[in-house]
Amino acid sequence: MSEKHRETIVCPGCGAESSFTVYDSVDGSNVYLKEKVLDGSLFTFTCPSCGRKEQISYYMLYYDSGKRLMLSFLGGLDAGGPSPAAVFFREHGELLGQLDYIQRIVNDQNSLREKVMIFERGWDDRIVEVIKVTYQKKIAEEHPELKLDAIFYAQGKNKEDLLLFYSGGKVAAAIDLKQNDLYRRAVELYGPELPPLLADKTQGIDGAWAVAFLNKRP
Ligand SMILES: [Zn+2]
Repeated sequence: MSEKHRETIVCPGCGAESSFTVYDSVDGSNVYLKEKVLDGSLFTFTCPSCGRKEQISYYMLYYDSGKRLMLSFLGGLDAGGPSPAAVFFREHGELLGQLDYIQRIVNDQNSLREKVMIFERGWDDRIVEVIKVTYQKKIAEEHPELKLDAIFYAQGKNKEDLLLFYSGGKVAAAIDLKQNDLYRRAVELYGPELPPLLADKTQGIDGAWAVAFLNKRP
């Protein structure tokens, strides 16, 4: 079950007060809400008075029991005091850690969206992070003029498996992982060195994790 509550938002544009729905948890089996996580509208406040749109980040637990997946989104955790959901998860974190779930902590909306898409795809986010770091190194060597802000996996309009390279807040390049069979090849190469997904209790799977993993390899 998805849990939600209402919060009062003061529009930074016109100062009008209005109500905004904050989702403490989202059940990923609810396709309607999952789409709203993916398109960002769950985190977008639209002022009913002046129409201004604002991004609102807040603590949210995204879970999908069918996929045994739990994503803790820590966006804006303590802004204006911790939410009831944040307090709950802080107090019960240890218990949750013992559950037989893939558990991840993400700090921004893009990472939340990316993880949802990776697990929807039935992929392993650890493999995706390793591929991303490999490309990051390659681009730094071959195109030192290109300053990369971030790399994200995303599904394209025709279900392509894309790696998007962001520079200056825009997509500067994209590659299709399917075309190059990159994902499968990376699974073959790195998969045997990783514990099964459900057995891996690492909550922070990101670029730093992938760099550490690659550095540990002989
Ligand atoms: Zn307004």
